[in-house]
Amino acid sequence: MRLKLILAGLFLNLISVGASGDALKSKADPLIDAVRDKVIAWRRDIHEHPELGNREFRTAALIAEHLRSLGMEVKTEVAHTGVVGLLRGAADKPVVALRADMDALPVTERVDLPFASKVRSTYQGTEVGVMHACGHDNHVAILMGVAEVLASMRDSIPGSVKFIFQPAEEGPPAGEDGGAEVMIAEGVLTDVDAIFGLHVVPAPLGTIGYRSGGMMASSDSFSITVKGRQTHGAVPWGGVDPIVIASQIIMGLQTIPSRQLDSTLTPSIITVGKISGGVRFNIIPDEVEMLGTIRTFDSEVRKDIHARIKRTAESIAESAGGTAIVDISKGTPVTSNDPELTRLMVPTLQEAAGIDKVGEFPRATTAEDFAYYQKQIPGMFFFLGVADPDDARPASNHSPYFYADERALPVGVKALTYLALDYLSKE
Ligand SMILES: [Zn+2]
Ligand SMILES: [Zn+2]
Repeated sequence: MRLKLILAGLFLNLISVGASGDALKSKADPLIDAVRDKVIAWRRDIHEHPELGNREFRTAALIAEHLRSLGMEVKTEVAHTGVVGLLRGAADKPVVALRADMDALPVTERVDLPFASKVRSTYQGTEVGVMHACGHDNHVAILMGVAEVLASMRDSIPGSVKFIFQPAEEGPPAGEDGGAEVMIAEGVLTDVDAIFGLHVVPAPLGTIGYRSGGMMASSDSFSITVKGRQTHGAVPWGGVDPIVIASQIIMGLQTIPSRQLDSTLTPSIITVGKISGGVRFNIIPDEVEMLGTIRTFDSEVRKDIHARIKRTAESIAESAGGTAIVDISKGTPVTSNDPELTRLMVPTLQEAAGIDKVGEFPRATTAEDFAYYQKQIPGMFFFLGVADPDDARPASNHSPYFYADERALPVGVKALTYLALDYLSKE
């Protein structure tokens, strides 16, 4: 009896919450249709004028002007070139944040488009082409569209929406700081209850991919300096050969994912991408240096791998009479979707894109600095498919041939709009 009452109460509660969200989404639908052409025009404009990380001056100015025209409180120069707009709805709280990244890459565009980038710049002293090869132009245009939709219905929104336009997702230029970490340090997450973001990928047009828990990998780099003792190439017993030690370490590191970690828990990757040492065929050198990357999907496993790399490299070197100095520098954490938030919001994504267009995607071994926001507050990141249906082998992100079909943009606008409205109604 008591259980029945509780269940009845829950049911009523769900219905009332659902109904207010539904009414808001119906109100948003014509506004989403109305902003469509503008979103496409912004995307083409930003695509044609890409800017590298921490140099997104034109893009930031375009965004700031738009947000101000919508009557928002706007902060500029957040984490160098970031723009943050606050839309106060019918209530100040709760606050939901939506994030788009703004930076392009040092890639020369090879896509044949009327709005293809012809921009050139310098990157770490080299002249390069600049292209939105990761598709962040789409993220900015989509979020500008969402801002316009939600601003047009602000009086009926049961909370506030923070629009975060972030620079330097791909990493700041050498010697500079930037990206999500700096945005957080400058206070963008103050009072924010949850955050959502998306990334365009060459998946079928208009599909949405999500995943609960670890979705994109952590990315750490390491250097290992193996010290031996120089000797003649014909007299190896006269010294300690760091080249042979380095070779053993490379093989030893591969046994960490394959032999040491529980492979049923989560995948992980250790790659040595550079090895250098020696000057001549008949000299065993003093020293070898190796550089590599570590990817995994769980923060505990990540810590464990760091310890195992150190132990494996140091012990192998010691066994041969040499030494190994291991230096691990922590990069982007795991992009991990809050399981409760994901469970709650998947139906919203299904409503936005169509139930048959939403599914669980495989993990991506690439990294995304959205992860830093998720370390602070519950967050959900998802993929939006932008592949041209006529292209049998769509190019990957970061390729000079990467192309986003703009027919996916309205799906992105709808997904983020619905997520904000439903999240604020559900609180
Ligand atoms: Zn990228
Ligand atoms: Zn990206």
